[in-house]
Amino acid sequence: MAENSLSKLHAAVRDVPDFPKAGIIFKDITPILKDGALFRASIDIFLDQCRDKRIDKIVGIDARGFLFGSAVAYELGIGFVPLRKKGRLPYQTESARYSLEYGEAEMELHIDAIERGEKIVLIDDLLATGGTSASAATLIKKVGGDLIEAIFLIELEFLHGRKKLEPTPVTSFLKY
Ligand code: AMP
Repeated sequence: MAENSLSKLHAAVRDVPDFPKAGIIFKDITPILKDGALFRASIDIFLDQCRDKRIDKIVGIDARGFLFGSAVAYELGIGFVPLRKKGRLPYQTESARYSLEYGEAEMELHIDAIERGEKIVLIDDLLATGGTSASAATLIKKVGGDLIEAIFLIELEFLHGRKKLEPTPVTSFLKY
């Protein structure tokens, strides 16, 4: 991926101070989404990282992980699995509680979303403390998936979230 694209994407992420709570600097990706060339560039960097890995399914985290994850799954011709906040999935679920940079939450996955041994890549917009993606990793493994990598558009490196995902390999493109 051209450095040029990465620096354009980096420049487009908008900092919104004190959202959704005082003290949090929210990394707003909507300036990327609303620009056709930037949105395509953001999907392309995920795709470059995913090709040639014989991935069976992409798991995307509610809600911004759906935007990137589903586009990547579509392009690779593989399935997409939504990992959702509690109460949103209609069928039987496995669930896991976790703490966020700004609160507590519970994530759910349909019990039949992943076949035993399937190679899974986890996608979200942003890695902060790692609580969300670590609980996603737990759920993926609980239903029998083989989580081969977690990929994020943005990583807040000072929060050391990738430690919580160990030993799963973590890739991110825009680091702050
Ligand atoms: P964490 O569990 O702390 O790694 O938080 C990651 C999840 O919360 C991701 O789904 C992000 O979309 C969201 N998130 C956490 N912190 C921020 C932030 N500063 N800006 C935007 N999204 C965030």
